[in-house]
Amino acid sequence: MRILRALMSLLLFISATSAAAELRLSKGFGQISPEVNYFLDESAELDWQSVQGEGFSSVREYPPQFGYTSAAVWLRFRYVSDIERIWLSLDYPMLDDIHVYILDNENQLIRAYPLGDHLNFVERVLQRPEFTVPLPMSMSGNSVYLRVRSDSSLEVPMTLLEDSTLRHIMEDSAWLQGLFFGAVVMLGIYHVLIFFSSGDRSYLYFGGLSLTMALIQATLWGRSYQFLWPESPLWNSMAVSVFINASNFFGVLYIAKVVKIIASHRMVYWAAMLLSCVSAIMVILSVFLPYSSVIGPTLWLSMVTFFVGATMVILRMRRGYPPAFAVFVAGLMYTLGSASYILGKLGVFNNSLFLDNALALGQLLQVLLFAFALSVRMAMDKELRERAQRDSAHAQAMLLETERQQNIRLDQEVRARTMELREANARLEKISATDALTGLYNRRHFDETLEREFERAAREKSVLSLIMLDLDHFKNLNDTQGHAFGDEALRQTALRINDVLKRPADMAFRYGGEEFVILLPDTSASAAHILARQIWTAMRSESVVMNEQSVRLTVSIGVACAEPRSEHSPYALLKRADDKLYQAKEEGRDRICL
Ligand code: GH3
Ligand code: MG
Ligand code: MG
Repeated sequence: MRILRALMSLLLFISATSAAAELRLSKGFGQISPEVNYFLDESAELDWQSVQGEGFSSVREYPPQFGYTSAAVWLRFRYVSDIERIWLSLDYPMLDDIHVYILDNENQLIRAYPLGDHLNFVERVLQRPEFTVPLPMSMSGNSVYLRVRSDSSLEVPMTLLEDSTLRHIMEDSAWLQGLFFGAVVMLGIYHVLIFFSSGDRSYLYFGGLSLTMALIQATLWGRSYQFLWPESPLWNSMAVSVFINASNFFGVLYIAKVVKIIASHRMVYWAAMLLSCVSAIMVILSVFLPYSSVIGPTLWLSMVTFFVGATMVILRMRRGYPPAFAVFVAGLMYTLGSASYILGKLGVFNNSLFLDNALALGQLLQVLLFAFALSVRMAMDKELRERAQRDSAHAQAMLLETERQQNIRLDQEVRARTMELREANARLEKISATDALTGLYNRRHFDETLEREFERAAREKSVLSLIMLDLDHFKNLNDTQGHAFGDEALRQTALRINDVLKRPADMAFRYGGEEFVILLPDTSASAAHILARQIWTAMRSESVVMNEQSVRLTVSIGVACAEPRSEHSPYALLKRADDKLYQAKEEGRDRICL
């Protein structure tokens, strides 16, 4: 794009410029000859007097143009005017050195004006970018000699203007140029400020690009010289090439960054970086070398920059990268603006204010779309960052959830294990408290329980009864029926005891070989006796049966009852029951003693 701008300036040099595609001789100034003659003074030493003797040729094309030359060009035309004052405007603001000589019809010098942008702007007759001088009224006809020398391309578009027309042109162009310049400069400054706050270099590149583009245009219009550095003709002579190179520099960096070429084409990226370095060097050279030797390489470099930029944009468009499309449309806008401008200048369209400013309009649209491309890219980057953040937040949440699930599982497992352990403990406890043969509680458990129940009865001031029973002649049974039968008899005795006990608080224990005790909390002596009787009856009314062997067994039972007080020992109660049992044995067995 930069390049197009540079090509345009090239066209400015070699083709026609500005509002003066034709000399407006017909516009009320019909008596002025449209004929313009020229003479090339290769030595550049002739003055207005000596040049009159030289052979002038007529200019075939309008505006007169002579390319890059070190020669001084002399232009001559005659005019007749009955208007007090008309203005001659030389519409190419880049010309270095101009002398205007106005001669009467006897070839006597009436006035001379030194012009050109090597003079301070403030020294101009009329403070406008185009070199403008007044031509006095002349009924007999005056001649105008122009001597023009320039390091820039030498072309001399000229316009003759009435006062009122000149005023309109100055107002219109000032308004439009001001609008363009203001908009692009503000955009540039705005993005440079964003660069300072965000640190993101794409903003700096874009800001630099906008500012240099605005300055190129303003300098070509002559407005920079008019307003920005009116007393620095030396700087003015190098400003355009400095700005074009700076613009190339920022442009290539901006495009490389905004289309993110590094993401897919590393080689192209490095080519672009190399190009930006060359442009930076050219900026410096533009300051130290004369304009005429710098402008050629600058235009070539602009062309290369254009193609590298276009290549990056197209490569990224083929990858479907959205900002590349915006940059492409921006380039297109600029190309269209330039094309309208060129076509306008070539006379394909009628010249109008729009066509005159199509170039600037295209540039303005381009800058706006460039800014848009930048914002699209930033939005995409932001979206990417946010997605990454969302993803990581999601991953974190997943991790937490997994951890939570694991904790729950662990918790459940621990609880299950604890439960199992508790059950195992309970089983173990039960096993350790139980007699394996009969399933009743064992002697060890009896000792603990007796003490506990005794204390409870003491606390509650209740009665505690104890039944002790012993199978009669059990040794005999073992001897006659076998040990296995003896075991079976013990099991069946336990079952019958359990059948009799109804309250959960009553507990039966296997106390020794064939001895059992029954602990009856909160039970009176008479109630204990009733239970003892039920057991005694159950034993003698039903035989113990195993393998078709059947034996009727009897038991001897001792019953004791106490109202325990803490000073009494539980073993005294046990001893009394044992004594009663002994008594029952003594008295002949198969009975209950109370
Ligand atoms: P008494 O009427 O005087 O009580 O006579 P007894 O034979 O029952 O007296 P003693 O207490 O002397 O005999 C108890 C016998 O019980 C001795 C032992 O062989 C037997 N015995 C002890 N424990 C078991 C056991 O677990 N299984 C079997 N089959 N016999 C046992
Ligand atoms: Mg015994
Ligand atoms: Mg016995």
